[in-house]
Amino acid sequence: MTSTNDIRRSFLDYFEGQGHARVPSAPLVPHNDPTLMFVNAGMVPFKNVFTGLETRDYSTATSSQKCVRAGGKHNDLDNVGYTARHHTFFEMLGNFSFGDYFKEQAIHHAWTLLTKEWGLPAEKLTATVYHTDDEAFDLWRKISGLPEERIIRIATKDNFWAMGADGPCGPCSEIFYDHGEQIEGGPPGSPNEEGDRFVEIWNLVFMQFTQENDEIVGDLPKPSIDTGMGLERIAAVMQGVHDNYDTDQFKALIAASEELTKTRAEGESQASHRVIADHLRSASFLVADGVLPANEGRGYVLRRIMRRAMRHAHLLGAEEPLMHRLVPELVSEMGGAYPELVRAQPAIEQALQQEETRFRRTLANGLKLLDEATQGMGEGDALPGETAFKLYDTYGFPFDLTEDALRREGMSVDREGFDAAMAKQKAAARAAWKGSGEQASDELWFDIADEVGATEFTGYASHEGEGMV
Ligand code: ATP
Ligand code: MG
Ligand code: MG
Ligand code: MG
Repeated sequence: MTSTNDIRRSFLDYFEGQGHARVPSAPLVPHNDPTLMFVNAGMVPFKNVFTGLETRDYSTATSSQKCVRAGGKHNDLDNVGYTARHHTFFEMLGNFSFGDYFKEQAIHHAWTLLTKEWGLPAEKLTATVYHTDDEAFDLWRKISGLPEERIIRIATKDNFWAMGADGPCGPCSEIFYDHGEQIEGGPPGSPNEEGDRFVEIWNLVFMQFTQENDEIVGDLPKPSIDTGMGLERIAAVMQGVHDNYDTDQFKALIAASEELTKTRAEGESQASHRVIADHLRSASFLVADGVLPANEGRGYVLRRIMRRAMRHAHLLGAEEPLMHRLVPELVSEMGGAYPELVRAQPAIEQALQQEETRFRRTLANGLKLLDEATQGMGEGDALPGETAFKLYDTYGFPFDLTEDALRREGMSVDREGFDAAMAKQKAAARAAWKGSGEQASDELWFDIADEVGATEFTGYASHEGEGMV
């Protein structure tokens, strides 16, 4: 079996062999980009190279970039544990051309690596192109020999990429792997494309135009290439499993949580083990890059991730803090590729243990309240926003944790009511403060709420999608 670590290495070796500079992953907290919460794609650290603001001593590069998608527009948090292919933290393998090669070479490299180097069967692969991109369609025909019906023209934004309202943009091409008809879901563009049968493994972006105010105004002087392939997804393909959570590294993490909780990742417990394994990765890598749990901004996203995992640990019957005890397994799986994980191991363990100790003080009581509040509620019902707010305010339950807790019962949470309860308390607190002469402590919740935009961080500026390939 090809391990995840082998696949990462093999990808980087291939592109290095093709003259690409091998560039280490940038930290998850983006430098010089306050509009982006976390790095969410391999191209993010190269943004200024693409726009020409910055030059490097290479014109092609390859990397395996740490990514987090747990907030803002590209929020995969709610998918975790429930789809086979989404994580909050994942590694994006990429090759980049800064005005060097373009479409033909990009497609050639992708096809060669997948089918020749790695030997994936061509009949399992499907490509999509932007509906007007005849050039890409013809190149796919020529290079891969895929039949026309497996080069699918897509007219949606899924196949058109832009850095922002102004800047480089262009069509893209997504490569899908067919995991087989035993799994539900249709090919991209079909009415039943939702589902996990056809999994997108690689996205090739052809930066070709420049736009202003979302309108194409001309051709880029130097067309460029940005690609991204999810390491965990290609690992599933190459290890002959359908589900990312059945790949070597996830299996090792899940085995560790099974061992510690004396439960099996089956039936009702499966999602919990998956959430724990996924969130362990994102939480640990975030701490390694200097983020700590807090009530605002990046730290609040981290806290939400941690607490969500901690509720699942509690569900599995853990009576003591659990997450920090899984860190050694993670370090042994991923510390070789990411030495920062090894260096930060003590800090990660401490942050997790402290947060879990703290949250456990209110967790059981909060869940009791939630239990009582949902008595008599049934599938399709929504928990009153006031209750969700009380859980947030008194018991430290992030909004999405409450949502996640009700999901199994098919119930939702009244978001509007929650926001209204938040606004009411905020107004009352402000009024109570008037003239008291006290200095506002930054721990006070309404400052926090101001910063985080109610309870869920949605504070990405309008360019939040910038990092996407
Ligand atoms: P999807 O449509 O499956 O959500 P995407 O189009 O949002 O994927 P891209 O932004 O194109 O993803 O990212 C490039 C690649 O990164 C994808 O082709 C996929 O292999 C991988 N990827 C994207 N999101 C995730 C995630 N949440 N977890 C794991 N891998 C991911
Ligand atoms: Mg997505
Ligand atoms: Mg997609
Ligand atoms: Mg994509």
